[in-house]
Amino acid sequence: MFRFHSIKDYHIALQNGQTTCVEAVRFYIDRIREQAHLNAYLEVFEQEALEQAAILDAQRSTGTEISPLHGVVVGLKDVICYKGHQVTAASKILSGFSSIYHATATQKLLDAGAIIIGRQNCDEFAMGSSNENSSYGPVKNARDTERVSGGSSGGSAVSVQAGLCMVSLGSDTGGSVRQPADFTGIVGIKPTYGRISRYGLIAYASSFDQIGIFSNTVEDAALVLETIAGPDSFDSTASTLPVESYTAAVNGPEKKYRIAYFKESIEHPALDADIRNQILAKIEALKAAGYTVEPVGFDLLEYVVPTYYVLTTAEASSNLSRFDGVRYGHRTATENIDLTTLYKASRSEGFGEEVKRRILLGTFVLSEGYFDAYFTKAQQVRRLLKEKTDAVFAQYDAIISPTVPSPAFRIGEKSDDPIEMFLADIYTVYPNLVGIPAISVPLFTHPNGMPFGLQIMTKHFDEATLLRLSQQMMALK
Ligand code: GLN
Repeated sequence: MFRFHSIKDYHIALQNGQTTCVEAVRFYIDRIREQAHLNAYLEVFEQEALEQAAILDAQRSTGTEISPLHGVVVGLKDVICYKGHQVTAASKILSGFSSIYHATATQKLLDAGAIIIGRQNCDEFAMGSSNENSSYGPVKNARDTERVSGGSSGGSAVSVQAGLCMVSLGSDTGGSVRQPADFTGIVGIKPTYGRISRYGLIAYASSFDQIGIFSNTVEDAALVLETIAGPDSFDSTASTLPVESYTAAVNGPEKKYRIAYFKESIEHPALDADIRNQILAKIEALKAAGYTVEPVGFDLLEYVVPTYYVLTTAEASSNLSRFDGVRYGHRTATENIDLTTLYKASRSEGFGEEVKRRILLGTFVLSEGYFDAYFTKAQQVRRLLKEKTDAVFAQYDAIISPTVPSPAFRIGEKSDDPIEMFLADIYTVYPNLVGIPAISVPLFTHPNGMPFGLQIMTKHFDEATLLRLSQQMMALK
C-alpha cells in the first residue's frame, strides 16, 4: 500500500519506480472518501488531479530532472484562489463563486509540479479557533472525533493529520495555522508577514494575514516555504528580501541557540497545568543539552488579545464591505427594493453570526468618537509590542511559548462564549501583531491523549533559524 513519510522519501520512491503520482493521488482520493465524516474537504478535484498525475508520470519516464514539488499532493484552504475553481471562504455569501485567477502561492505550487487535490473546510472568512464557524459544519479532530480540529484552517490541518494529502496551505491571521497544528499534532508554520505573497488570498485583516503551511515534517514545511515565498509585483507588502534555502538550513550544523520565554506566558492562570509542566520540563531538557533558556518579563501579555481583536475586526469591517450582493456572491431574492435594502438583505442572509459580530465590532471601533479610544490605542500597543520584541531579539535567537493554553476542546464546549474562545488565541496572536515568523512543532501528548505543540518564534525573516531550531527540537524529543 502507498505510504507517505516525507516529500523526499516520496521522490525517492517515484524515481525508483516503486510508486507513481497516479497511485499517490488514487490513495488520497480513497482515503478522503473513507474519512468523509471528518468534513475536512469542501470539494475534491478528483478527475483533474488524476489527469495531472498522469502527465507528471509521463514526464518522469522521459528521464528529465524532477521539479521540487513534483507530484506532491496539496490541499488548499478555501480562502486561496485556484483559477477556474470555486473559492468561498466557507461562507454562504460566496457560494458558487469561482476564482478568475491563481493566487501567487497557487501559481508557484503548480509551477513546481504540485497536484492540487481539493479545497478545505475552514471557519467562515478565517474567523474562529475551532472550525465551528464554517457554513459547512465543523471539521472533526481525527484523534478524537468529538473534539474540534482547531481553526480557522481546521480542514487543512486534519487533512495532513489524517493522511488526506501530503501538505496543505492555510492562512494565519492570529494563529489559524499554528493552533490547529497544535490540536492535531502536526507542524504548522506562519512565516514573517510579507514572506509569502497575499495575492489571491481572501483578505480578513490585511496587516496580519499570511499564508502558512501544514506538514508532517519540518523539512517538508521548509521545502514548500522556499518554493512559494518571495517578491510579487501583485502584492506590494511581499518582501523583496531574497529567499534563503530553508531546506539547507534545516539540515545545517547544530547550534546551541539562546532562547527566551515569557514568564507571564508560563504563569498565566488560563494555561492548562499539564501543558505548563511539560513545557517546563522541556526547558530543563534544553538547558541540560547546552542551550541557554531564560525567562524574560512580558507585562503586555494581557493586552495582546484585545489589541488583536480591535485591529483585526477594524480591518475586516473594511475588507468585507466588498461582499455586497452586487459585485460578489449571494444576492437576496427579495425584489423591488432600493439599493441600501438590497445590501442589507444580501449581507444579512449571506454572512454567518461570527462574521457579523466582527463586522459590527470593527465598524464600532472605527466610528467617530470611539476611534481614538480603541483603534488608535490599539495601534499604540502594537507599536509597544514591536519595541519589546526588538529588545528581546537583541539578546536571544528565539522565543518559545505554549501554542495554545489547552488541548483540543470538545465540539460545542466553547461555542456560546466568544470571549472564552478569543482567549484561546492568547499565545498565537502576538507574532501576527508584530509580524515575526512562528511555528508550532508537535512535541507533546497531554494525559488526556490529545497532542499539543510548542510555539517557537524568531526575528523577522529569520525562518532559517526557526526551522533549524524546530528540527533540533524534534530530534531532542
Ligand atoms: N482564532 C483567531 C481569530 O478568530 C485567528 C484566526 C486566523 O488566524 N485567521 O481571529
